[in-house]
Amino acid sequence: MSRRHRLALAVLGVLVVLQALTPAAALEPSPLAAQLDARLAAAEPRLLEWRRHLHANPELGNREVETSKFVAERLRAMGLAPRTGVARTGVVAVIEGGRPGPVVALRADMDALPVAEEVDLPFASKKTTTWEGKQVGVMHACGHDSHVAMLLAAAEALTAVRAELPGKVVLLFQPAEESVPIAEQPAGAELMVTEGVLDEPKVDVVFGLHVFSRVPAGTLGYRSGPLLAAADRFEIAVQGRQAHGSAPWTGIDPIVVGAEIVTALQTVVSRQLDITHEPAVVTVGQFDAGVRNNIIPDRARLVGTIRTFDRRPRFRDHDREAGIPRHRGIRTVRSLARTL
Ligand SMILES: [Zn+2]
Repeated sequence: MSRRHRLALAVLGVLVVLQALTPAAALEPSPLAAQLDARLAAAEPRLLEWRRHLHANPELGNREVETSKFVAERLRAMGLAPRTGVARTGVVAVIEGGRPGPVVALRADMDALPVAEEVDLPFASKKTTTWEGKQVGVMHACGHDSHVAMLLAAAEALTAVRAELPGKVVLLFQPAEESVPIAEQPAGAELMVTEGVLDEPKVDVVFGLHVFSRVPAGTLGYRSGPLLAAADRFEIAVQGRQAHGSAPWTGIDPIVVGAEIVTALQTVVSRQLDITHEPAVVTVGQFDAGVRNNIIPDRARLVGTIRTFDRRPRFRDHDREAGIPRHRGIRTVRSLARTL
């Protein structure tokens, strides 16, 4: 992501606010917009520094403790009074404009992913942690470090002009945008809303954005209707029967059955959905089974994601996924799907 791109997106955030606060007929750049542009241009070195600091110090969902402190400190330095511990590690602050107007919320997600960073940059992440019992790297592989830095820069510019700002701006630094363990759900946006972040003050409209490496730098991607799909996590436990690898006929091999399930799941989208109207994705991202080359284990575990744009295929998918063929002596295929 280039400097220009990040800055352009930060500016965009502010422009979107201004447009929301301004009557439709008055969209030419106002003196306030020009002032904000100048402040954002001047903030670029800080924005880059913040983003690189965050990039080098990523934290997984619901564990954004240091990120949350970093955000709150910066907001306090701007003269704001952030509320911390929202939905566990979220941060919320309100910029009170000096003129009457609507309440606009700007949202940035804060969490990173269990991915090892493999680049040679001075601000590359070297962090590791334990995720579902495995040692993993931690990386801002989805760009949420950019989102946090951009919202901080927008907050700084908007705070500086708050006397002339119509309405209020609610800053939402959201934890756990990526999935978290089931035991920690609900989390993220859902929990923030439950905890009332849109109620006091009552928010009229919320804007969020996401950096996207396939969009050329300096341009804005958009589409009508939904842009990002709903995400449903599913987990399938395949219960077989342990046997020696040299005598598979004496057991029930959950790895072979699991492999067939992975393949069969691909036909849900390619053969059962009308993909001209209902685009969807079913991905198995985790397949855990066995400990040794010559032991057929008694159990395999498949964990995946279903991505859909509307509720109709979303719930039908679950039915089909639960109806995966039971065969080869398999005892149970248990499917747990949770709407996130
Ligand atoms: Zn993301």
